[in-house]
Amino acid sequence: PLSLKDNISLKDVRMTCGSKMLENYISPYDSSVSKKVKEAGAVILGKTNMDEFAMGATTRSSYFGYTKNPLNTKLVPGGSSGGSAASVASNTALVSVGTDTGGSTRQPASYCGIVGIKPTYGSISRYGISTMANTFDSPGTMGHSVEDATSLLKILVGRDKLDATSLGNESIEKIDLKNLDETYLKNKKIAIPKIYMEMDLKENVMSEFERAIKKFQDLGGEVEIIDLPYLKYVIETYHILVNGEIAPNMARFDGLRFGHRTKEYGSIEEMYRKSRGEGFGKEVKKRIMIGTHILSLDLAEDYYYKALKVRGLIKRDMDMALKDHDFILSPTSPMLPFELESNMSSVEVYQADMFTIPANMAGCPSLSIPMPIKDGLSVGIELTGKRFKDDVIINCAHIFERSFKWNIRQ
Ligand code: GLN
Repeated sequence: PLSLKDNISLKDVRMTCGSKMLENYISPYDSSVSKKVKEAGAVILGKTNMDEFAMGATTRSSYFGYTKNPLNTKLVPGGSSGGSAASVASNTALVSVGTDTGGSTRQPASYCGIVGIKPTYGSISRYGISTMANTFDSPGTMGHSVEDATSLLKILVGRDKLDATSLGNESIEKIDLKNLDETYLKNKKIAIPKIYMEMDLKENVMSEFERAIKKFQDLGGEVEIIDLPYLKYVIETYHILVNGEIAPNMARFDGLRFGHRTKEYGSIEEMYRKSRGEGFGKEVKKRIMIGTHILSLDLAEDYYYKALKVRGLIKRDMDMALKDHDFILSPTSPMLPFELESNMSSVEVYQADMFTIPANMAGCPSLSIPMPIKDGLSVGIELTGKRFKDDVIINCAHIFERSFKWNIRQ
């Protein structure tokens, strides 16, 4: 029994992407993800709410209203796959498929106290999934345990001739958690970026992160603090590049080829303008405007191309760290889920993606696993590994999870 984020095409079922633009859109075909879960015998329970076109980190930008956090209904579930995380955390679905462009599978998993996995870029076909930013997007899986999320991941991986960027991933296919050696974490090299330790993390995020570090050490891991200087530019770089990809991707929603069409118009230009004006929400419009602006002829050199160079430097930083280490360890989010009614600025919400975005920048596999704590909310811990070595972070997370002797379904 599983749920699918509502940006994944399921034949003959509505796919809204959380937008008025696609309120009445019915997918005429199955995405490769839907095809695979159907073939595996899954019962698809439904589609889940999301931030409009996956742009957000709260599930508050959905045209269809907020999703609440099942652990505390006054709080956000995270986003953009907040509906998927809530469906698992509330035991409505056993597992769920989300998508992750800058953290949208891992961050809601962390806010809802479950496991979220974003595999190496290209492991799973994106065919039939509404694109946000082509070079960042990856489907991801969620479940109550590493084992649940991995079982679903194993069904989804594979090369697909319908998506030229899909490569498959043998490291995931060969994962065998049932027969995993208890001492797997022994002598594993773990890197923690220095800037993460110097940050002002909210509530008990730092203390829980320190508890996680200690646990990894107790299990035999060797922790080293390393300097990754370019990580401090990750948010700015991400928003320039992602908006640069979003703006052209959203061009297809014009009321003609796809999406809502306005009722009254005098010219084709007016039809486009009114259809898009009525169909898109505020966050989507903002990103289209920024994307179009920074890609315009005289500015592209200063913004888009410069950001591409910085992406290269961030990727180099990550690759250097991962050459000598098995994975990078961090919290998933610098804060715990906040109030649904909070008026936190969008920049503050953007800043909170600083731990999840590097993996999307470099195409690395990354997962979030909850630290068990008693008051119902848990801090998510993130493991980011080498491309196409997803098995390493998944195996380590499984050992970590098991070491708590914590029955997550209780
Ligand atoms: N929160 C990030 C953003 O707003 C990531 C979204 C995502 O991964 N889809 O862009």
